[in-house]
Order: sequence, then C-alpha cells, then structure tokens
Amino acid sequence: MHRQATDPCFICLKPADKKNSHLIPAALLNLSLGKRNYESSFEIDTKKKSIDEYYGRNNLKNHKTEIKQHHWARDHYFCRECESLLGVLEGDILPHITVKLRNPKFRQNYIKNEPDIKGGLPVLIPQRIDSMDYNTLILSIIFRVSILYTFEKGIKSLGLSDFEIMRLLLHARLYKDNSEYDAFCDQFAFILITPEKFLHPTRNLGFTTDFTSRPFIFYLFEFLVLLYPAYDFEKARLSGNPKYFTIPPQIDLLNFCNLPAKLAFVPSGFWDHINRMILQSTFALFRFRKRRKRQITRLKDYKGKPMRKR
Ligand SMILES: [Zn+2]
Repeated sequence: MHRQATDPCFICLKPADKKNSHLIPAALLNLSLGKRNYESSFEIDTKKKSIDEYYGRNNLKNHKTEIKQHHWARDHYFCRECESLLGVLEGDILPHITVKLRNPKFRQNYIKNEPDIKGGLPVLIPQRIDSMDYNTLILSIIFRVSILYTFEKGIKSLGLSDFEIMRLLLHARLYKDNSEYDAFCDQFAFILITPEKFLHPTRNLGFTTDFTSRPFIFYLFEFLVLLYPAYDFEKARLSGNPKYFTIPPQIDLLNFCNLPAKLAFVPSGFWDHINRMILQSTFALFRFRKRRKRQITRLKDYKGKPMRKR
C-alpha cells in the first residue's frame, strides 16, 4: 500500500503529511530490537516463505547505502498533528507500563493483587496513569498495526466497522471531545498480558493471528493483547454468564472504559516458552527448503541468544 501526503490521515482524515510514523512506538521496540537507529529486525513472511532483514542506520551490520523502510514504521499513515498527539500519549503512559513496572524503585507506584481463583493471574494496577489515556494508547497501537496487517499485508485483522469505531474513539480522545469519547469508549475491552521479567527480550515478537477474532490477538513485543469488541461482552452481560461466548472467566482482568488500568502478569518462563514455540514453529516452515537454509542459519544470529538448532 503506497501512500502519499495527499491521502487522508487514518485518524482525522486530513492530509497524511507525516513520514516515518512508528506503528509500534519506538519505546516498545528498544528492548526487543535495539535502540532507535541501532535496531536488528527480522520480518518473516510464512506465506511467501521469505525473510527480510532490517538494520538501523547506525547498526554495524548495516552495509547498505540506501535507506530501507523500518519494519514497524510507515510514511503518510497519519498527519503531523495526530502523530504528535500520539507521541504525547506514548510519553505519558509507556514508561509506567514498561521499564518502571519492573524496577523495584517504583514499586510504590503500583498495587499488586494476587489472584483469588486457582490458576488466575496476578494483576498490577498502575497508580500514576490516567486509565482513559492508557486504554487509548493500547487501542491506538492495535489500530496502527491492524492497518498495516489488513491493508498492506492482507492478513485478516479488525473488521471494517471495528476500524471506524476505533478511529472515532481515538480521534475523540486525542482531540479532547469528551462526549464523543463517552459515546464510543465502551465499544472495546482488552486484557493486556506481560511477564514479570523478560528472560530473553530479543525473542519478543510482533504479529497478529488471523484464525481468531473472538478475541482478536495481538503480540506487541512486550505485551500480548486480547481484544474484545462490545458485541461479545454485551452478550455475556445479557446472558448473566461471564463465560458466555469468548469472555474469559478472568473478567476482572478486562480494561474497559473508565475502570482503573490493569496489567496481568504471567510467569517469565511461560512467556519465554510461548515465544520460543512460536519462533521454532515458524522456522520449521522453512526447514525442508534447502535453498532457504542460508537464511535459517542467519536467523540463528537473532539478536541476543541464538535459537537452538533443531
Ligand atoms: Zn490526523
């Protein structure tokens, strides 16, 4: 999808004059891919059976003179104003749900609730953030990457009506239209999951799945997001059964409208295991193709600890 400055901004519909917009904020990629301009990023296309490499311009592995498109940035998706408002939101919220979250120095900024059901997850409630800004930021990242998945990569993501409702919701919050925001803020709920500690952060992944839409599943490097559109939890409410349809029994983990922001913790080993399984099954798709062997070997040089040979 090649876009130009005259195409409409995906949020406000004015001309999309901003270049190099990060669809996943740079602060969410630092830990997994490396700092801005020093990144090592691999994009694996399991349909085309191809692997694309990207190295930031100051990365020593970057021997190319031409400027390559960052895997997670695009030109002319948004206008400068929307981009700068998204930047403010990222600066306000992201530090509280990434680095500070795992730093003992900031422990007093969070309330940790242990699960009251067997097999439940501990929940962290950040005290220093506005929950509406938090909801808006997470939905904005889902919105941004969904545009990329749906319109550029042809991977089924949000439905068209979901896109439009999310656009109206984001526009209302960014441009401080409170009554409009109140009208749409109950249209999505989500559960945000992160590990208590990253054992191998360079194995964190960014992708969505196209085999489920109830909930929609998004991997955003440091977070796994399960997104529930309103029609699901409305059915659950009407039936009086929180397990109805796809609403999970851990309904108290849901982030929704004006409720306090929450993050669910999974054990670090479990998070690492999931990432490893996904990477290994992706590599397995290439395993029997001889001519791809060189690429597999190179992917063993995944930033951080190499993947084990299978
Ligand atoms: Zn805009």
